[in-house]
Amino acid sequence: MRKKIVAGNWKMNKDYVGAQQLLTQLLSYTNNNPLPCEVHIAPPSLYAMMAKDLLENGKVTVLTQDVSEHNQGAYTGEISVEMLKSIGVQGSLVGHSERRQFHGETDAHCAVKVKKLLEAGLTPIYCNGETLEQRKSGAHFDVVKNQTEVALFGLSAEEIKKVIIAYEPVWAIGTGETASPEQAQEIHAHIRQLLSQKYGNDVAQEISILYGGSVKPENAKEIFSQKDIDGGLIGGAALKIEDFSKIIEAFG
Ligand code: PEP
Repeated sequence: MRKKIVAGNWKMNKDYVGAQQLLTQLLSYTNNNPLPCEVHIAPPSLYAMMAKDLLENGKVTVLTQDVSEHNQGAYTGEISVEMLKSIGVQGSLVGHSERRQFHGETDAHCAVKVKKLLEAGLTPIYCNGETLEQRKSGAHFDVVKNQTEVALFGLSAEEIKKVIIAYEPVWAIGTGETASPEQAQEIHAHIRQLLSQKYGNDVAQEISILYGGSVKPENAKEIFSQKDIDGGLIGGAALKIEDFSKIIEAFG
């Protein structure tokens, strides 16, 4: 059974006080409302410990936005899987398009990160998606296929069942432009078919595939109602509790 998930990616936003306020609002909202789906957040790593402490025993899963592909040692600025695990963080985004664009992350890096997270018992949310040029040239199906194969298809069936995939067309991230529900559904179905061909339909039917790219309270319901869309990875709209909560309720 595929889990329904709304995950918030805070990116590099909020100072300490702002982060504390948003976490407190999130705690109050999630404690006082029935949740129609799992709720995950990925604040900046600096606030992960505070998020874990504030949300302790709550219903929100705390992730980070990235993790190192290395175990430990001379990797200045990096944070390892074991460090995340030691403070109770439950997983990490991997391969967000901004990591790919600004930090040279490739699917080969993603494959290592995904594997390390799984070995530590943590959850990867693996992000993929095509650029505007790739979509315009009609290459989007192949691009997503290649990304998925390189980053994930070295995993066993048992491992891949624990991965969450987020399809995020780069042209829709932070631009206000959203893929139409049909455009998103078509790629989600494509990814699920790839999973099915490689691992069998039973496995493919257990993997949650989220859509990301300018999801807002106004469009969430229609996007989430698509057959192969199991929720959303939310950037800008995750920074305001009014918007994030409405997106969560889009499942209701
Ligand atoms: C994201 O950062 O993953 C994202 C989808 O951002 P936004 O919702 O702002 O487009």
